[in-house]
Amino acid sequence: MFSQVENLPAFAGLKADGAAFAARHIGPTPDEQAAMLHTVGASSLDELTDQTLPAAIRVGRPLGLGDGWTETEVLDRLRELAGQNQVLTSLIGQGYYGTVLPAVIQRNILENPAWYTAYTPYQPEISQGRLEALLNFQTMIIELTGLDIANASLLDEATAAAEAMALAKRVAKSASNTFFVDADCHPQTIAVLKTRAEPMGFAIQVGNPATDMNAADVFGALFQYPGSSGQIIDPRALVDALHAAGGIAVMAADPLALTLLAAPGELGADIAIGSTQRFGIPMGFGGPHAAYMAVRDAYKRSMPGRLVGVSVDSEGRPAYRLALQTREQHIRREKATSNICTAQVLLAVIAGMYAVYHGPEGLKAIGRRVHGLATTLAAGLRELGVTVQTTAFFDTITVDAGDAAPALLARACDMGMNLRNAGAGRIGISLDETSTIKTVLDVWNVFCTDRDRVGHMALKLGQAASTVPEALVRQSAFMQQAVFGSCRSETDMLRYLRRLSDKDLALDRSMIPLGSCTMKLNATVEMLPITWSGFCDLHPFAPADQAQGYQTLFKDLESWLCAISGYDAVSFQPNSGAQGEYAGLLAIRAYHQARGQGERNVCLIPASAHGTNPASAQMAGMKVVVVKCDAGGNIDLEDMQAKVTAHAADLSAVMITYPSTHGVFEENMRAICDMVHAAGGQVYVDGANMNAQVGLARPADYGGDVSHFNLHKTFCIPHGGGGPGMGPIGVRAHLAPFLPGNPADPAVGMAVSAAQFGSASILPISWAYIRLMGDAGLKRATQVAILNANYIVSRLSEAYPVLYRGAKGRVAHECILDLRPIKDSAGVTVDDMAKRLVDYGFHAPTVSFPVAGTFMIEPTESEGKAELDRFCNAMLAIREEVRAVEKGDVAVEQSVLRHAPHTGAAVTAEPWEHPYSRQQACFPPGVNPATKYWPNVARIDNVYGDRNLVCSCPDIAEWME
Ligand SMILES: *Cc1c(COP(=O)(O)O)cnc(C)c1O
Repeated sequence: MFSQVENLPAFAGLKADGAAFAARHIGPTPDEQAAMLHTVGASSLDELTDQTLPAAIRVGRPLGLGDGWTETEVLDRLRELAGQNQVLTSLIGQGYYGTVLPAVIQRNILENPAWYTAYTPYQPEISQGRLEALLNFQTMIIELTGLDIANASLLDEATAAAEAMALAKRVAKSASNTFFVDADCHPQTIAVLKTRAEPMGFAIQVGNPATDMNAADVFGALFQYPGSSGQIIDPRALVDALHAAGGIAVMAADPLALTLLAAPGELGADIAIGSTQRFGIPMGFGGPHAAYMAVRDAYKRSMPGRLVGVSVDSEGRPAYRLALQTREQHIRREKATSNICTAQVLLAVIAGMYAVYHGPEGLKAIGRRVHGLATTLAAGLRELGVTVQTTAFFDTITVDAGDAAPALLARACDMGMNLRNAGAGRIGISLDETSTIKTVLDVWNVFCTDRDRVGHMALKLGQAASTVPEALVRQSAFMQQAVFGSCRSETDMLRYLRRLSDKDLALDRSMIPLGSCTMKLNATVEMLPITWSGFCDLHPFAPADQAQGYQTLFKDLESWLCAISGYDAVSFQPNSGAQGEYAGLLAIRAYHQARGQGERNVCLIPASAHGTNPASAQMAGMKVVVVKCDAGGNIDLEDMQAKVTAHAADLSAVMITYPSTHGVFEENMRAICDMVHAAGGQVYVDGANMNAQVGLARPADYGGDVSHFNLHKTFCIPHGGGGPGMGPIGVRAHLAPFLPGNPADPAVGMAVSAAQFGSASILPISWAYIRLMGDAGLKRATQVAILNANYIVSRLSEAYPVLYRGAKGRVAHECILDLRPIKDSAGVTVDDMAKRLVDYGFHAPTVSFPVAGTFMIEPTESEGKAELDRFCNAMLAIREEVRAVEKGDVAVEQSVLRHAPHTGAAVTAEPWEHPYSRQQACFPPGVNPATKYWPNVARIDNVYGDRNLVCSCPDIAEWME
């Protein structure tokens, strides 16, 4: 019977096939694509492609990735790979610890698209939920560290230390160029500091602060608290000495330890940094996790990273938004406080919620329990005759095992535990929230095979005294703000999370047409594996043979990215696009140096470049020279030639975004690359716009030497409200020897982040996307992304001039609408337009980048025709609202545009004092009252917020006032 069915030819058609996923990932159906092609005036996707991409850069053959797999096949294979990773109990420590992610947070944040598909909160009126969550995070950090102000996350602890070093240099009165680093800092932190220091011209002195540091000779110093070995030092005398010499004291502090230890701010530190990984975030073989930075008030304007502040809206209610943005790369470019764009928002939200869930008492209880187990562990080991070197500690001890170390490490491994090989016969053991009495017994058994003796010792459990030095016991209370006592029951927590996410507009509600950000579908099937234990519970420094599944996944992904881009090798170390830029420029720098051309230090960057480009070049020790753009938005070839010639002797690199940030495939890309190569320079192609190229063109083919890939744009890692991201770089073979090395290896040449494979645990997302789409699906996605953008151009260009187009009148995957004419004719600002779109239920496009007074729109391939039409109809309806102002029917100050967005309170206010109707305010044409998105706050006053800077939650006393 069955065999008969199988033989029916029709049955083959019922089999799930690879094209099924691509058809769901790509928004417009084939029929819709046909209708849209008709609108844009192209006969087929291929014809549109030919009109859009210069023939000279086209890749004429399939990439060789094969057919797309089904969702089931992909999950099966990923399950297999996860199974090839061995999850042992990790007692390695060194900055990464076991932790318990509360299930209510896992499901309702980490696995909830309302949180993970949101964008960076540049439009604060539709971002109040995640901004509040980030304010909780900042408040938690301020409270634990005892400092005045904290940012909303950095990429990891090692880069946070490097940012702190750069900040220290900016604000220190000392004229020294040397930064002192406690030898008891985590090795990966030291590796990243050394890498960062070199191009900036800083010297790093690593040593024992008590004996080796001369405060007068350094501009600052970093102390780990507790140290990497577990040892706690009292830094007060060192901090005083630094201050007396005009230097800056930085402490890398473990937030869980701070529940029991005196806060860095109380010890005099100027800056505290660290990782919040152990606040509920899985180790993930290295990430992603949120690092933090807190500083004294005096240094807030020099602080790197995003900062959430409280302001007021136009109706006088408190409202959150990003503060002090004038420090950041998108405004200050090479003079910015850092190159950070994508950070770790989703992880910061999780860590902050972990603190909300546990409250101060809960956190302290976890800290006490871990410390109690650690003291017991140490006391028992001493009784067994083991040399415990650490005297004052929180959760980590180091023992001197001498020649027995290798055998002991192996025996621990056999028993299912990884201990830290700290070198020279020393073994590190770190306990954490997941540790139990059994963990302690197991470790004793590693060192003593006599089970009876060990069992006997267990009777003394809990008898060991705390080893925290009296003078360093935390006396101050922390996290007394109402929010940290508000959610003790799971019901409360669930509803709080829901309340916050309901305030925000993410991809689960509407398209987010942000140009340059590629807000495409993050398919659920791609997301499933990231919380599987086989991917998320590995320590980044676990022995390599325990991570075979990951190794295979990295190899696959590397080979696919090489096929897609034409490059020869990939490094997965960078945790964001900007960090990829930095890593790529360092590779270029090292390449020139290796050829005896270290004097090459000029980086040419077109005026239209993303702010991260000049900021990264500056960090890489390069001198930024800006190249003009012509009236058509293209790189001014003459100016480029002139600058290449002028700098022939010292040209290091050019950074070019392709297709350009103007949304156009420039015709002369190859010519520019040839020109640069002829002058001995290297070409950095900013790969943020890969979504316009995959399957159609390859950066290495047309002249790129290195590119980063924003996996959180083109390759489906969700934006998480502003991170995590991944920015691996691809390089041609000649740069491969200069890629970052393993940060945990003392012999490492260069390290740009703490873990060798960056945020490894989110790589399965991109792996799944590429495997699901296959050659044909990826190419089709690119073609439809281009179709969607050109469709928007066709529908909107009469109402709003399209600023730049390619040679044949086409745009690439995004387009810039010029709003300056309506500013002139009606006084309507880009802000008015952006906020009015909220009333129509949309997130605004990218505002005023790369050209002030414009919208940049990127629909991506994932949006179907109906949603594109809904957006275009809203834009057209708003144009009519502008027309009423142009005609003089209504003054712009009184217009529906200027008062947008309209809250529920605003549209029900009595008396009604506007020249437009309530209906017009909240239910304009195309808005369905049944599904309307209601903004939570009215337009937010940014200037007020920056003048009256408040960056933490109110405490209970203020709350009650
Ligand atoms: C997004 C973007 C970047 C920076 O990437 P991050 O991952 O946010 O650091 C750089 N260049 C361009 C053109 C971009 O769009």
